[in-house]
Amino acid sequence: ETYSTQILKDEAATLHAASILARQLKLGQVIYLHGDLGAGKTTLVRGILHALGHVGKVKSPTYTIVESYPLAIGPCHHFDLYRFQDPEEWEAAGFRDDFNAESICLVEWPEKAGDLLPVADIEIHFDILPEGRVLHISSQQALALEAICQ
Ligand code: ADP
Ligand code: MG
Repeated sequence: ETYSTQILKDEAATLHAASILARQLKLGQVIYLHGDLGAGKTTLVRGILHALGHVGKVKSPTYTIVESYPLAIGPCHHFDLYRFQDPEEWEAAGFRDDFNAESICLVEWPEKAGDLLPVADIEIHFDILPEGRVLHISSQQALALEAICQ
């Protein structure tokens, strides 16, 4: 079990935390990303995707709801459910099949899908500080996170 709180002083620290998390992700996992607009959820996802070998842009899926990346380890789906008005939209959109043992799913605003989403293997919460962010990570699994704060 993991429960960890870390201070991320700037964007580089968020990207560094992402690289440490990335190497511990496995196919089939679901990661929830909670936090207000501008908290750093998409920044963390960008860091994870780049650490897992994606070259190029990471577009926020605010309008498309999902952006998918064919990574070396397998497909990675990045969701942003911010625009959902009702949890039923998640079911209707047909995303359930993306959550399977052969993919990794990173979900911003998971609360917008209510309890319809598959449960998270790792939950991340961001709090915004006047300068920097606080990152809270919890998981049933043991994660090695000591190196996040440099
Ligand atoms: P979200 O997806 O949560 O809405 P974004 O990742 O799109 O947020 O935007 C976060 C903003 O905050 C970006 O401008 C990014 O550069 C900045 N940022 C990311 N991490 C930190 C940090 N640890 N400290 C300060 N600013 C950060
Ligand atoms: Mg975002």
